[in-house]
Amino acid sequence: MPASTVAADPSLCAPLPVLGRDVVVPLVTGGEVSYAALDYAASAPALQRVWDDVAAYAPYYGSVHRGAGYLSQLSTDLFENSRAEVAAFLGCRPDDEVVFTRSTTDSLNLLAAVLPAHTQVFVFETEHHASLLPWERRADVSVHYLAAPRSPAEAVENLTRALAARGPADGPALVCVTGASNVTGELWPVAELTAAAHAHGARIVLDAAQLVPHRPVDVAGWDVDWVAFSGHKLYAPFGAGVLAGRADWLDGAEPYLAGGGASRTVARRADGGVEVEWHAGAARHEAGSPNVIGAYAIAAACRALTEYGFDTLVAREERLIERVRRGLAEVGQVRVLSLFGGGAPAVGVLSFVVEGWNSSHFAAALSAEYGIGVRDGLFCAHPLVRTLLGGAPQEPGECGAPDAGPGSLNAIRVSFGAGTPD
Ligand code: PLP
Repeated sequence: MPASTVAADPSLCAPLPVLGRDVVVPLVTGGEVSYAALDYAASAPALQRVWDDVAAYAPYYGSVHRGAGYLSQLSTDLFENSRAEVAAFLGCRPDDEVVFTRSTTDSLNLLAAVLPAHTQVFVFETEHHASLLPWERRADVSVHYLAAPRSPAEAVENLTRALAARGPADGPALVCVTGASNVTGELWPVAELTAAAHAHGARIVLDAAQLVPHRPVDVAGWDVDWVAFSGHKLYAPFGAGVLAGRADWLDGAEPYLAGGGASRTVARRADGGVEVEWHAGAARHEAGSPNVIGAYAIAAACRALTEYGFDTLVAREERLIERVRRGLAEVGQVRVLSLFGGGAPAVGVLSFVVEGWNSSHFAAALSAEYGIGVRDGLFCAHPLVRTLLGGAPQEPGECGAPDAGPGSLNAIRVSFGAGTPD
């Protein structure tokens, strides 16, 4: 079949089916309407394929790594194959570890826990709180906050300048950066930031929570040291996340949690204490019974997205973003938030404010009157949203929770993905 015929086949551009696509919701006016899910950036509905794969495996569920029984062996195989599939999906190096965690937040807290003593961490103040906050909890680690850059090039310049100020005797360094903003959707220059980090002897972790559902990740090609993401933003809402990357810092630190699975041998010592030999590798940081279904669901999502193809996904998403932008421009009085300047490459995540409207009231009206589900608030990125809105510091509120006061600083976010109809 000639390539042009393939490209013209509309079934190739149809969205990937997700659960809950046909949910009907009541309206305040008394009618009802098909729900428009535009909050994928918070949590994406499970792909039908993920649900089917999980349902097919569920009757065979068993404990992993411990049992001689058939179901235990089968589950161990599926769990370890899931690890390998995630590594392939992320384009990992052969000796990278893939640790199953609970979420992006958990993955970054795990990395914070294993940092060598006296690591200097460099992080943009524009990051999601999951990337911004874990590092300061380590008393023996120093954190350098980088000012909000107004272009991808400025991000690289800011980082380079900060890293260049390090002295030759300074300890290890880690840069933490997002791949795609959960507020503006804008893509960050991951490969360039990685090159800048490595040129100054620093390592880099990529917060890929908003990148993996929308763009292919290439750990080896970009040479990032670690990548973190959550299953529930990748259409696999079964409670698992991933930290993947270099093994040395992971193996060189105490286990994140102490317990079975992380320990190879445990014996009482003559002095009355307990002697533990810990595993190396992913098991070291996966103490307790792991979330096998969560890991399997993530691998199922990786398979589904790979088969669907990121080219198709990106092309659809760009059409959708364009439609949203055009629609908002027609409404008028709408300001779309952008750190890098309007038109910068972005994934299917976009935030805006409507002049004269409190964003929380606006979002509530979209839900009650039109059945459109969006997010309002500060999106767990308070410093970034304040910068974008040009506002004065406000009292800290709950993460993303609406403060519906008349002068409150917050915004509305729409986000979509593989299941959003054209
Ligand atoms: N990083 C980014 C960019 C995010 O958008 C989010 C969630 O919104 C997180 C990290 C935290 O993800 P989770 O809540 O799954 O840990």
